[in-house]
Amino acid sequence: MEKTVIAGSGPAGLTAAIYAARADLSPLVVEGSVPGGQLIVSVDVENYPGFVEAITGAELMQKFRAQAERFGARFTQGDITSVEKTAGGFRLTAGDAVIETKTLIIATGAEARRLTIPTEKEFYGRGVSGCATCDGAFYRNKEVIVVGGGNTAVEDAVFLTRFASRVTIVHRRDYLRATPAEVNRARSNTKIEWLIPWTVEEIYGSRFVEGAVLKNAETGETRRFPCDGIFVAIGHDPKTEVFRDLVEVDENGFIVAAPGGTATSTPGVFACGDVRDPVYKQAVLAAGHGCMAALDAQRYLEKTS
Ligand SMILES: Cc1cc2nc3c(=O)[nH]c(=O)nc-3n(C[C@H](O)[C@H](O)[C@H](O)COP(=O)(O)OP(=O)(O)OC[C@H]3O[C@@H](n4cnc5c(N)ncnc54)[C@H](O)[C@@H]3O)c2cc1C
Repeated sequence: MEKTVIAGSGPAGLTAAIYAARADLSPLVVEGSVPGGQLIVSVDVENYPGFVEAITGAELMQKFRAQAERFGARFTQGDITSVEKTAGGFRLTAGDAVIETKTLIIATGAEARRLTIPTEKEFYGRGVSGCATCDGAFYRNKEVIVVGGGNTAVEDAVFLTRFASRVTIVHRRDYLRATPAEVNRARSNTKIEWLIPWTVEEIYGSRFVEGAVLKNAETGETRRFPCDGIFVAIGHDPKTEVFRDLVEVDENGFIVAAPGGTATSTPGVFACGDVRDPVYKQAVLAAGHGCMAALDAQRYLEKTS
């Protein structure tokens, strides 16, 4: 019987592992199919405190992992594919392994939705981004597209005008889901242009993005649209499928955690990072939540054993 199992090895899971290991809980981290989490594809991380110069996401996550290992965290590969409540805690399946644990920390993240056009993957991290807050500053005096029609897309577009010379919102429908207040704010910004209803059909470039092929959703007309960056802001999918019968999730699948804490609707299960954060989705916050989850799990174990 494990004291605590941590699902996920991004900033949230690995910070939980550091704290749980230092509290002598000997945590077992189930790394998931993307060891290191979302950041590993990021070429430059410039906003993680403590790093004056940019660090690659892969290097940053390697440091997190090494720190957790140093204090005795253990790791196993693969995704958790099933979880059930038992008399003493929880029974999980990960690959061929069946794991029993008293507490479970869920740190499985949320995946930015993709356009699912063939060339998108090729340019991810090289001009295609799912995070304006993270990557906006790399597009000073450059031209960018924001894809989407909800509040996130419109807010991202306004934010990106701080850096970019021109921001074009490309949205596939002829109406926007964003609130009128957000739309009005964007409409009064002279750096923002609109292509509605247009879709992105293809992304082109050599090593980095050089533009996109756009298609008018009504007339079928296509055009090449030169630009330096494409921000995809069409939502996130929290990785909670396997936990939905165990803990309460909101209408978008994010885990509902106690305000100001990490407790979920099931005692002994804690949630941290992007999987319970529909708003900010930043590594430093995920790490902060990871710390909270480990402390909450530690207190829960002290009270129940
Ligand atoms: C391209 C890019 C650049 C970014 N740049 C920045 C930046 O510069 N600064 C910044 O602060 N933030 C940045 N972010 C956002 C940041 O990466 C996330 O906020 C952060 O990684 C969230 O951490 P997390 O631990 O909650 O989840 P994630 O990093 O998503 O990690 C989730 C982990 O859970 C695992 N997992 C998933 N399902 C299962 C399962 N069933 N069982 C076990 N494990 C599972 C995955 O394999 C993964 O290891 C960027 C994101 C992207 C995509």
